[in-house]
Amino acid sequence: MRDNHLHTYFSYDSDADFRDYLEYYDGEIVTTEHYDLSNPYSKQDDVPDYAAYSQKIRELKEQYGNRLKKGIEIGYYAPRESDILTYLAGKDYDLKLLSVHHNGINDYLDDEVAGMDKHAVIQDYLDRLEYAIGRVEADVLAHFDYGFRLFDVSVEELKGYDIQLRRIFQKMIDCGLAFELNSKSMYLYGHEHLYIYALRLLKELGCPKYSIGSDGHKLEHFRLKFDRIRGLLADYGIGEEQLLR
Ligand SMILES: [Zn+2]
Ligand SMILES: [Zn+2]
Repeated sequence: MRDNHLHTYFSYDSDADFRDYLEYYDGEIVTTEHYDLSNPYSKQDDVPDYAAYSQKIRELKEQYGNRLKKGIEIGYYAPRESDILTYLAGKDYDLKLLSVHHNGINDYLDDEVAGMDKHAVIQDYLDRLEYAIGRVEADVLAHFDYGFRLFDVSVEELKGYDIQLRRIFQKMIDCGLAFELNSKSMYLYGHEHLYIYALRLLKELGCPKYSIGSDGHKLEHFRLKFDRIRGLLADYGIGEEQLLR
């Protein structure tokens, strides 16, 4: 299974080089570079240089063969929707992730957010996530828990959002997006239990497509704990044919 969530120096917060991944692993590599407008963390529009990115991929394909794919992680922010659509128009990607990273004031990983009211943050995030689905064309709903990565959330607490989570997942299914198992969320932010709960809901809803991504920004996180995720998928009766690539 391919790692469907990966960053290089084309993302504002990564220094990784394509070759780090290409030399380490001989299967397909797709990078999903950050596209985040009005990013409160960097205080700018973070836009990967499409021409340079495409050129780099072409060069690397000559050396490494046709196992390199083009991707983008679209950070959706409603006030900039028209700019997002304009940027994406006419650009060609093999994989598009849909994410919500910020609310215009804070990225949900800002230190400040950790001191805020947990339930207010979760509600704000889920409302934005629910709205974002279907607004731009994409293949994968990335890290459904991004807005509350900084918090310890129990399954009981997450169940409090059950009705909305079901709506979000149904919308994701209806829009043809795959559900992402994000190994950084699961194993670096300790949210495996929340993903297991999500898998139970998704099975009930008949979700047909899943995607596995490390969200790696460096080689150490590439394909993080994929064997463990493989086991989880088997436990929930999700077959390889349901995985995106
Ligand atoms: Zn992300
Ligand atoms: Zn990412």
